Amino acid sequence: MSTTGGSRGAQPRVLALRCRACSAELPAASSDVAFRCSQCGRGWEIIGGELLERAAMYVAPPPNPPHAVLYLPYWSFGVTASAKPRRRLGEGVAAARDRAGRFKRAYMSAYSIYRPTYVGEWGIVYTRMQPEWEVRTGHGPESPGASLPSGEAAKIVKHYILAEIDRAADLGLLDVSVELHDPQLLAIPCYDLGTMLRCPWSGAELPVTVLNDLAEMRRENSGAVS
Ligand SMILES: [Zn+2]
Repeated sequence: MSTTGGSRGAQPRVLALRCRACSAELPAASSDVAFRCSQCGRGWEIIGGELLERAAMYVAPPPNPPHAVLYLPYWSFGVTASAKPRRRLGEGVAAARDRAGRFKRAYMSAYSIYRPTYVGEWGIVYTRMQPEWEVRTGHGPESPGASLPSGEAAKIVKHYILAEIDRAADLGLLDVSVELHDPQLLAIPCYDLGTMLRCPWSGAELPVTVLNDLAEMRRENSGAVS
């Protein structure tokens, strides 16, 4: 599959990228830095001009979805976090310690989003929720690639976790450690309502106008199995 560049008159980037596992052409759009192979489902990220393998998977959509399903790319990291009280164990400090221990995974949207602080970012919602999704590997739905490098996502995700711990107790009262494990490229389904996207799990909505590459994403999702 060949794709053309962004809709804003940008020059199409011609990529001759092939999956290193199965040799299928990778569905790389103009601004993508990471993608799942649509044939074998393996994930690749461009790092220093080389393709580096990333664990790649997709979340099973809710049964009998009432709307069209669109998959969006996220980075997901395993998390080991702890918050140890510096002195005595106050109430907030105990809550912060428990909260830190509760994080198993963290998420950051990897698609290009316009003014995320204004419209909200679903990765932080998923990081708070710690959802028990059915996650599958291998050949799955077509899903758009990531335009955010995993290294950038890791920095942001670390702030998410620190902010969540800080909501329970001031970070100055704690010795906090946050360790992120290898990035996974995850395709998470949402409902495409035309002018809005709705998260099936949180009910949150995003206006489609904040997604820079939606036309490309819809095209890439057109062969999706739901
Ligand atoms: Zn492949």
